[in-house]
Amino acid sequence: ICDQGGECDLQDLTLFYGPDHSRFEENKRGVTDKYLGPLISTHMTRCIHCTRCIRFASEIAGVEELGATGRGEEMEIGTWVEHAIMSELSGNMIDICPVGALNSKPFAYRARSWELKKTESIDVLDAVGCNVTVDTRGSEVMRVLPRLNEEINEEWISDKTRFAYDGLKKRRLDVPMVRRDGRLRPTSWQDAFATIRARLDGVPGERIAAIVGDLVDCEAMVVLKDVMTSLGSPHVDCRQDGAKLDARTRCSYIFNTTIAGIEDADLCLLIGTNPRFEAPLVNARIRKRWSRGGFTIGRIGPPDDLTYPVAELGAGPQSLGEIVDGSHAFCERLKAAERAMLIVGQGALARPDGNAILAAARAIADGFGMIGDGWNGFNVLHTAAARVGGLDLGLVPGKGGSAVEGILAAAGDGEIEVVYLLGADEIATDRLGDAFVIYQGHHGDRGATRADVILPGAAYTEKDAIYVNTEGRPQRAERAIFPPGEAKEDWRILRALSEVLGHTVPLDTLGQVRARLAELAPQLAHAGHIQPAPWKSFGREGKLGTAAFVSPIEDFYRTDPISRASTIMAECSALHAPVPEPATGTHG
Ligand code: SF4
Repeated sequence: ICDQGGECDLQDLTLFYGPDHSRFEENKRGVTDKYLGPLISTHMTRCIHCTRCIRFASEIAGVEELGATGRGEEMEIGTWVEHAIMSELSGNMIDICPVGALNSKPFAYRARSWELKKTESIDVLDAVGCNVTVDTRGSEVMRVLPRLNEEINEEWISDKTRFAYDGLKKRRLDVPMVRRDGRLRPTSWQDAFATIRARLDGVPGERIAAIVGDLVDCEAMVVLKDVMTSLGSPHVDCRQDGAKLDARTRCSYIFNTTIAGIEDADLCLLIGTNPRFEAPLVNARIRKRWSRGGFTIGRIGPPDDLTYPVAELGAGPQSLGEIVDGSHAFCERLKAAERAMLIVGQGALARPDGNAILAAARAIADGFGMIGDGWNGFNVLHTAAARVGGLDLGLVPGKGGSAVEGILAAAGDGEIEVVYLLGADEIATDRLGDAFVIYQGHHGDRGATRADVILPGAAYTEKDAIYVNTEGRPQRAERAIFPPGEAKEDWRILRALSEVLGHTVPLDTLGQVRARLAELAPQLAHAGHIQPAPWKSFGREGKLGTAAFVSPIEDFYRTDPISRASTIMAECSALHAPVPEPATGTHG
């Protein structure tokens, strides 16, 4: 009856080495099960007091949530005052519990491990590119587990990566739709394509735009780029949040130090980033380096608990300016460091002075010896799985083209008539004015709500696709199940549409699409490997603003269309929401 059956260390050891009968004659002890939140179910009678879960929480996740109470036969593992585990890495305790005491609550009693088909893939719910195994039964994703990759996620994944999979089954777009009489109505692929062709007929390229979302794969992006080029549109952008990233200089937008390289650093300066919620596995690596000692961490940005001590250097660009001109007290520590690194977050770049902040960060990297032989301490931490791939492939405005902000303004003014949203859900769709909106994606989220035509695409578990993580490391996600209903792989939709529009993109197979990828960005041909980017000058020096940095992650559990559709993530979000202040006043 144990739901850990088939993947229990104790069961395996007993099978191979144990006696065929129990010598245990004492009374069996019973322990009350504990409540640890919506993710972990407990059967504490099975606990063997190995304390792995306690050590994981305090040493790796950095939260003092679990402990042992009582002694001898009275000993119990728990949270003392019963409450949910408040860690974004808590699901890993399920994997390391050697018996069935800690189990996955959403997965409990749903399937046996030997019934599941395992597909090695890549997570796309942040830009770390955690290696995962997607377990499926029939056409359903049953669970997501971590896969060992020492260079990226080691053997851990975040709770969002692990538990958001129920969002893959909800709010799915599984049939093409066209808006008629103000309502979206299901239709055929032919009708959806014919509607697009009729609307695009006679529209010049400069009145057409495309915005690329955060979960889009490289294959779809490269075909979109070719379609937009053939239509004569320069208005293409993959930076939904308006981050001032310079696609011409690769070293300016990747995590040059690499995630494993954090372990070689002796100082880290965080600029407008909260790695705990923007990239939990990068944060875990920083904590791992800190726990070894001899590691200084400074932060410019809003204070928050990152699970390790941080020197607070200021809230916004003013402190950054003081470090650049050498007047900040932290400069002494920067000078003393031998292998310093800095991490710039999207909270520092997605703002009007983002170019100046990028230039200031480069000046710090140059001025304090962060760039040297075999060491590059300049890093950009992304939050979108599609971002580095999009920049590598040049999904940015062409000559005379507008970025996202310009596209939205022009659409609102009626200067842009048609907007193609390729999985773009994080933009202000209410600013699209009267533009004709085509939404291609897999979830009925913000973009689909505003669409005039919906083309149903495939989620990351439903296609063979390349994603490039924040380090600039291309990785391949493998198809675990087929897309639902009439949904199709995204590059195939764009290829078919190009033919209907009379601008056929000559890419008929996945092999040809990947060859085209390699032509535009040769580094994408080497899955799993990072092509180091040579150090060059970048950024435009300018006036730094005064507003404090703000993290782009408002709610860690609901950052994208998949996690927003997940009931499990909604429960976690509610649990971690700030408790409102009690109303003041007296009752009569
Ligand atoms: Fe008990 Fe499992 Fe924790 Fe070990 S990891 S102490 S067996 S609950």
